[in-house]
Amino acid sequence: MPAAPLCRSLINGEWSESPTERLGEVFNPSTGDLIGQVPMHTSDDVDRAVAGALKAFPAWRETPAADRARVMFRFRDLLERHADEIAKVVSREHGKTFAESRASVQRGVEMIEFSCGLPSLLVGENLPNLAPGVDADTMRYPLGVVAGITPFNFPAMVPLWMYPVAITCGNCFILKPSPRVPFSSLRIGELLLEAGLPEGVFSIVHGDKECVDALLTHPAIKAISFVGSTAVAKYIYSTGCANGKRVQAAGGAKNHLIIMPDADIDQAVHGLQSSAFGCAGERCMAGSLAMPVGGIADELVEKLCDSAGQMSVGRSDNGGKFDMGPLISREHLDRVRTFIDGAESEGANVALDGRTTAVADGPGGYFLGPTVVDHVEPGTRLAKEEVFGPVLSVNRVGSLEEALALGEQCEFGNGAVIFTRDGRAAREFKQRFNAGMIGINVGVPAPMAWFPFTGWNSSFFGDLHIQGQEGMLFYTQQRTTMTRWPESRMIDRHDPVWRPGKGS
Ligand code: NAD
Repeated sequence: MPAAPLCRSLINGEWSESPTERLGEVFNPSTGDLIGQVPMHTSDDVDRAVAGALKAFPAWRETPAADRARVMFRFRDLLERHADEIAKVVSREHGKTFAESRASVQRGVEMIEFSCGLPSLLVGENLPNLAPGVDADTMRYPLGVVAGITPFNFPAMVPLWMYPVAITCGNCFILKPSPRVPFSSLRIGELLLEAGLPEGVFSIVHGDKECVDALLTHPAIKAISFVGSTAVAKYIYSTGCANGKRVQAAGGAKNHLIIMPDADIDQAVHGLQSSAFGCAGERCMAGSLAMPVGGIADELVEKLCDSAGQMSVGRSDNGGKFDMGPLISREHLDRVRTFIDGAESEGANVALDGRTTAVADGPGGYFLGPTVVDHVEPGTRLAKEEVFGPVLSVNRVGSLEEALALGEQCEFGNGAVIFTRDGRAAREFKQRFNAGMIGINVGVPAPMAWFPFTGWNSSFFGDLHIQGQEGMLFYTQQRTTMTRWPESRMIDRHDPVWRPGKGS
């Protein structure tokens, strides 16, 4: 059998395909087949990438913002033109259905569209005559070389949250994608170079902790953007800050869905289903814990199980049209199953059991069907921890107050959703629930490019969030200038040219 292809890297403007001492493996989650190998880069490789970026930075910083944005206009067109092709790469290495992958590429396109407009946001401020004859202005400047470390669950979209903004602001960007899904980033990187980006402005290195540590400690790297699990986000934030870097680190989540007795039940069922089982639950905005309030619970659980039980599960890599694909790896599948097994042994009721789902043409794939676990007790592992799989727990509560109180105990703070017809209840929820992204009759309140991704608590470490205007603020630093001009000895003030005119 031919060896699985080795993933390339982009260092100092050159694509290279050299194996490193350590190699990672990339699997097709639909089949379990090995489809690639990833070089695990060392600090020497990171040094070379940083050197290339530092060489490119002075000219890129001086490139007019409108010209930098023009590269993004071309990049946007290229990505749109190749969106189907890239969605197929995402589906093959990650396991999302084609429709989900295509939608995720579209979210990335929107980030580039946002970046095309950045010159307007980069405009500075000034105040003439701050003191007699003294003018003041504040302008934004790029930071220099910055890096992004990204998770497996959105191989195209999450890196695109970062580098179009960073690069259009005038920085040089080094991306370290997840070693589980490296191929999407490579193809998109080719398009970025085709759009006319000068060499060294964008680089791609691969690896695990060793490579990440080299980025976190490199003195020339000014800022780190991270998206991934909370444990790693905490480490990235503390290590990056200790090394003098600006850091934004988005972590994991446990998203609550409250269903009030007056909710439109079909709308709620649809919202819960797409929130919990879309992308096989491997989303930081996935609904994870449903809290029906009062007497609506029985009907809700029954309708949800009926509807979710009809979802089709299948291979994502061969053009089939299914509602759900596999999970990322065998190890992750086993971990998700332990949540269901554990809750069941503690007395919860597995009302819809995805553990029995089998996919005939993907016997080696990592499949788990939609699962609903009812009567989950607060404080248990399933109620508290991030599952990151297609498992929705149901914790029946007696009032909105009780739901709000349970939300207070949550370690995370990404998303929370309420289904109701009552404006007062929705307002109370929005004002008080312990999370940074709120949905009102919207199952997945993930902000789009123009808005910041405002996770709270252990779902985010840092000050400036990813996306929206905060993204631009994160990747720029301000400089304030005070200006006073002396009388020039060369000027003859009696010359009529210097007399105040009457206007023309
Ligand atoms: P992960 O934390 O395992 O990996 C993320 C990145 O960190 C990868 O590039 C990985 O190579 C690197 N990494 C892993 N372990 C490391 C270590 N010990 N030291 C240094 N670097 C390390 O996350 P994942 O499993 O790839 O992604 C899933 C997680 O990402 C979930 O928790 C999910 O909620 C989270 N996520 C959060 C958001 C958000 O916006 N909050 C968005 C998407 C995903």
